[in-house]
Amino acid sequence: MPHLLIVEDDELLRDGLCAQLVHAGHTVSSAIDGAQAQAMLESSRFDAVVLDLGLPVVDGVTVLHWIRQRLAALPVLILTARDGVDDRVQGLNAGADDYLTKPFNMAELLARLQSMLRRSRMPAFGGTLEVQSTAAKRLRLDPTLPLGWLDDEPMELTQREWSLLSLLVNNLGQVVGREDVLAVWQSEPTEGSSGSNALEVYVHRLRRKLQDSGLNIRNVRGLGYMLEMVSP
Ligand code: CA
Repeated sequence: MPHLLIVEDDELLRDGLCAQLVHAGHTVSSAIDGAQAQAMLESSRFDAVVLDLGLPVVDGVTVLHWIRQRLAALPVLILTARDGVDDRVQGLNAGADDYLTKPFNMAELLARLQSMLRRSRMPAFGGTLEVQSTAAKRLRLDPTLPLGWLDDEPMELTQREWSLLSLLVNNLGQVVGREDVLAVWQSEPTEGSSGSNALEVYVHRLRRKLQDSGLNIRNVRGLGYMLEMVSP
């Protein structure tokens, strides 16, 4: 059973969430503020966290930064207020895997949690790439939106850069054929010309964005491209 940590200061919402998640077959613990959440994360192992951003004592964004420094791969879904667009952006930039806006539908929360847990069990799939080399920065890609992060720094990615990088991440250490990339691009909204020349341009741009990250896109002549870790 996945062990979930619910961090929510609103007692009614917290109790409701816990009851529903237990009913759905999860093991659930809860914290009423950011400091309690940190203490629990230090003493127990969790499979995912549902984190309210507006929390007393230590706020949600601070807790999220703290989680990302210690438990890089732990999936975190943030809960934000309806008008909290800035919060949501700040939360995603701080490394949240997903978010829901309050008030939310319980069925949707369950579905998002399921998909987050599923992704986290698949290495190098759905965005989270854990880089082993100490020289490498941690690269993460949003599974559905053209967003990426190197450590906690947001990477600016166009739709095409993101789909190319996602393909490379999902095939870390293996060659991705030019035709595979072009096939993915053709299924997406256009962003200038496609074709082999365009592919080289995008690879060049991504190399620049990955500079000093410990990751490199290698050109495998005649075959395609491969994402690899480089030694310091
Ligand atoms: Ca709150």
